[in-house]
Amino acid sequence: MRAARPKQLTTILVAALMVVASCASDVGDPDAADNSSTTTSPSTTAAGTSDAAESSTTTGAPTTTADADAPTGEAVEGGETVEDPYYPTIGNTGYDVVNYELALQVQVEGNDVMNATATIDLTPLENLSRLSFDLVGMTVDAVTVDGAEAAFEQTAEKLRIFPKSPLQSGTPTVVVVDYSGNPDTIESGTRIGPIGWYDAVRASVAVGEPMGARTWFPVNDHPTDKATYRFVLNVPTGFVGVANGELVETVELDDGTISVWEMRQPMASYLATVAIGAFTLLDSEDGAGVDVYDAVATNELDGFEGDFGQTAAMLEVFTDLFGPYPFDEYGALVVDAEFGFALETQGRSLFSGQLVDGDGSIERIVAHELAHQWFGNHVSPATWRDIWLNEGFASYAEDLWIEFGRDGSPAQLELRLQTRAVNAASPAPGDPGGANLFAPSVYRRGAATMHALRLTVGDDVFFPLLREWVVRFGGGTASTEDFIALSEELSGMELDDFFAEWLSDGPIPEFR
Ligand SMILES: [Zn+2]
Repeated sequence: MRAARPKQLTTILVAALMVVASCASDVGDPDAADNSSTTTSPSTTAAGTSDAAESSTTTGAPTTTADADAPTGEAVEGGETVEDPYYPTIGNTGYDVVNYELALQVQVEGNDVMNATATIDLTPLENLSRLSFDLVGMTVDAVTVDGAEAAFEQTAEKLRIFPKSPLQSGTPTVVVVDYSGNPDTIESGTRIGPIGWYDAVRASVAVGEPMGARTWFPVNDHPTDKATYRFVLNVPTGFVGVANGELVETVELDDGTISVWEMRQPMASYLATVAIGAFTLLDSEDGAGVDVYDAVATNELDGFEGDFGQTAAMLEVFTDLFGPYPFDEYGALVVDAEFGFALETQGRSLFSGQLVDGDGSIERIVAHELAHQWFGNHVSPATWRDIWLNEGFASYAEDLWIEFGRDGSPAQLELRLQTRAVNAASPAPGDPGGANLFAPSVYRRGAATMHALRLTVGDDVFFPLLREWVVRFGGGTASTEDFIALSEELSGMELDDFFAEWLSDGPIPEFR
């Protein structure tokens, strides 16, 4: 996630909107930094269902039987939270999603109408009498589990499913959910405002971070349950559907087009996106052997090359520094919509058309979102409290691009890092609170922490550390504690105090 103050906004929109735009910014006026303390109270109370799950999994269940309905030990209800410290109602336990196939028929009318089928391949981690998904605002019409109709109920945030017979731990299961409605945005509780499904006359787009995927499909909406995705998009004539991953098939219909997109590497739900609008698909210059395909709102084509022409060179620099690019292909998704920020949607980073004007002024943002493909997407935060591992790393990668790709002056870069961190010293990047997930300190003090670590352990340890981080935790999630442990392992140094000081909200330490 990266925000900039769009130039159009500074001249056209009213002051109230400026506040929204600049609050999310980590490049704007340092005074925009919110120094108020965090008020988020972590929920550590285990749900009753989780307790039940803990105590009943020891019942020795016979696991193989010819009769699927035979008794196989006590089944439990899957839990309805993964107990994220910032978002205690999201995520569901008891299963691991392997793949989502999302067949979406969307009538784009300014208030979109979606008729959809989600086919969810999952593996139960316990014997389950009930399981749940996160889903907000959409109406479920029917559910089957392994082909059999299943009872279900919806609460404001959950879809609960009651299979006819309990799901068996470890046995692959297919859940199919037919649903419909007008997908919409919800409040994120962060500085970026609403997230979810933005619909507009010109373009519709799904913006998920941190927990907005649940506005348009039933999902285990937490990074700890990554899955592969297949999107089957049915959109009206005159529109193009775009999603993460590779375009594998296009079918022309009398009244529209079906396009099929596949993300074959595990993806956190907040990185899933779909956009529907007037797009031109570009086969752009490859970099470091990575195919680059961009989907650009047709009315933004003029400025595209000026702003994104360095992508291939950035891929060369970042693969040198971080290791191989982790996905099948890369590209930008530039949407003609006014959400005003960029988001590192996996394999195809999303940019509001407001940011694109062709003068190269968003070069740092282009580098930032590309770097997230390693830091945030391939290695994702274990909880949302670990957000600095996304934003601090990606922000520092902007400087690495300038240093190694643009021959930037190390002394000037260091001065810039320090000044910006001093001007956005709090809240603590190591625990900013949900409302301050995208606070400037998370970006700037987080980036300065990375630079201070580099100076402390030396380049000979720092750059191998970045690559080892990706190798060891790629495809999954990792925490701040994991990063400290790996830093200590590779440097042989005791670094608890270093990280405690840098990731706090105290005065910014000296670099040396
Ligand atoms: Zn970011």
